[in-house]
Amino acid sequence: MTTRQMTAPRHSAESRTYRQLIAGQWVAADDGRTFDDFDPYTSEVFARIPASGAADVQRAIDTAHQAFPAWAAMGARARQAIFLNAANILERRADELVLLMAKETGCASPFARFQIQWATGLLRQAAGYSYLPGGEIVASDMPGVFAMAVRKPLGVVCGISPWNGSLALGFRTVAAPLACGNTMVLKPSEDAPVCAGLVMGEIFHEAGLPPGVLNVVTHAPGEVGPVADLLFESPHVRAYNFTGSSRTGAALAARAGQQLKRIALELGGYNPMLVLADADLDYSVDTAVFAAFFHQGQICMNTRKILVHRSLYDAFLVRFMARAEAIRAGDPSDPATRIGPLINDQAVAKVKQGIDEALARGARRLVGGSMRGRCVDPTVLVDVPADAPIHSEEVFGPVVLVEPFDDEQEAVARANATAYGLSASIMTADVWRGVSLGGQVQAGMVNVNGPTMGGEPQIPFGGVKDSGWARFGRWAIDMFTDLNLVTVSQARRQYPL
Ligand code: NAD
Repeated sequence: MTTRQMTAPRHSAESRTYRQLIAGQWVAADDGRTFDDFDPYTSEVFARIPASGAADVQRAIDTAHQAFPAWAAMGARARQAIFLNAANILERRADELVLLMAKETGCASPFARFQIQWATGLLRQAAGYSYLPGGEIVASDMPGVFAMAVRKPLGVVCGISPWNGSLALGFRTVAAPLACGNTMVLKPSEDAPVCAGLVMGEIFHEAGLPPGVLNVVTHAPGEVGPVADLLFESPHVRAYNFTGSSRTGAALAARAGQQLKRIALELGGYNPMLVLADADLDYSVDTAVFAAFFHQGQICMNTRKILVHRSLYDAFLVRFMARAEAIRAGDPSDPATRIGPLINDQAVAKVKQGIDEALARGARRLVGGSMRGRCVDPTVLVDVPADAPIHSEEVFGPVVLVEPFDDEQEAVARANATAYGLSASIMTADVWRGVSLGGQVQAGMVNVNGPTMGGEPQIPFGGVKDSGWARFGRWAIDMFTDLNLVTVSQARRQYPL
C-alpha cells in the first residue's frame, strides 16, 4: 500500500507496468522497484511505476548535461518541427489521454479535454520560440564598439510538476525550458507520474526529441528525499520550474537559494470573486458555479470566496445553491460526469477538516458536504468566521464561502485578506469600475466579468505574494535563459593604462 492512499487498493487485470525515460531509453528503476499508481474513483491499481532513487536521477542529470550542447545548437527549424510533431501526436492521442487522466487523477472529461486543447496550443506556440529574436543591439558610448544582449539557454533545468492539472501542467513544466534550448529532468508528482510526466516523455520521444534532452524520473510516495537531494545539489542543474503548493515551493526556493540557483514558482491560490451591486445576477451565478467547482475544486485558480453586494446576496444564494446542489461528483470515466473524485484520501480528509473546523466555529453549510468514497459534492458555506482556517487558506476541494458586503473598498480589503495572490474576478456592469477595483486586488491575474479560472497558453500566467513569482507565456523565455552581453570592438581601442 502506498502512503498516499489509506483504503486498500485492488489490482486491476489490465494494470500496466510503465518504464521511465532516461537517455532516450525506456528503463526500469535501477534497483527494479515499482510502486502502485491507483485510480482514485475505483481504488484499483491501474499502473505500476518505477520507484527511482539516487542512481536513476544521477543518470538522468548526467545524460541531460551531455545532451545540452547539441540541443542548444540545433537550428530553429529542426527544433520547431519537433514541437509541432508533439502537438499533432497529442491531438491524435486525445481520446486515450482523456481516459488516462480519468483513471490516474479522477479528472472528468470536460477538464481533460480542456487540458489537451490547452497543451496543444502551448506546444504550437512554443514551437515559435525558436524564431523569436534571441537578443537585441545595445547602444555603446565607445566609438566603434558594437554591443549585443544575447539570450542563451541555461543548461539542465529540473521540472517538478503537480498532479492536479496533470497533462496541461506537465507540458507547461517542460515546454518553455526545452523550447529555449535547455535540456531537462522532469520529476512528476507521485500522484500522477503518468499524466504529469511519462506522457510528456512518450510524446516528445515519438516527436523526435534527441535522446537525453528530456528525461523523466518517477519516484514512489514518501521517497522524494534522495531524488530531490541530487536534483538540488547537482552543479549541472541550473534552474527549477516548480508548480505545486506554496509550502513545498517555499521550502524548495530556500534550497535553490542556498545554491544561488533560480527557481520559477507557480503556487497555490485563494481566489476571490466580487459581485458588485450592478452585476448581471444570472451570469454571475453561472460564472461562480464553473469557477468554484470545476475539476472538483482542485485547480489553483478555483474561486474560494464569493463576496456579493448585500443588495444581491439573498437572490444570489438562492440561485447559486440550486445550481450547486444539482452537481454530483461521480465516475470520471463516464463522459456525462461533470466532476469526479478527489485525488486521494488525504485530500478528502483535508477538505473534511476544513469544513468541520468552520462548522465548529459557527459557520453554516447551505449545500453539500456529502462524501461517497473520494467523491465530494459541491459545498457552500456562509457565516464562516475569520478564525476558521478555510476563511483564508486553500483546502483544494469543491468548497466555497459566500459573504455579503456593503462597501466596495471593504470587499477589496477582504479579498486581499489572504497570503495568496493568484487570481480574482469582478462582476459588474461598469467595466471601468471593475478595472479600477481590480487594480487594488492583490492578484497576478484579474478578470472583469470572467471567472477566476482561465488561462490561455500565451498569457503572462502567474501570481503574487504566496502564489509565487513565475510568469508563463512568452515571459517564460526570460526565466529559462541567461541574458549575456557580447561586444565587438571594430577598431583598436585606447586605454588609460
Ligand atoms: P505539492 O507541493 O504537494 O507537490 C508538487 C510537486 O512537488 C510534486 O511533484 C511533489 O512530488 C513535489 N515535491 C513535494 N515535496 C518535495 C520535496 N521535498 N522536494 C522536491 N519535490 C517535492 O503540490 P500538489 O499537491 O501536487 O499540487 C497542488 C498544489 O499546487 C495546490 O496548492 C495548487 O494550488 C498548486 N498549483 C498551482 C498552480 C499554479 O500554476 N499556480 C497550478 C497547479 C497547482
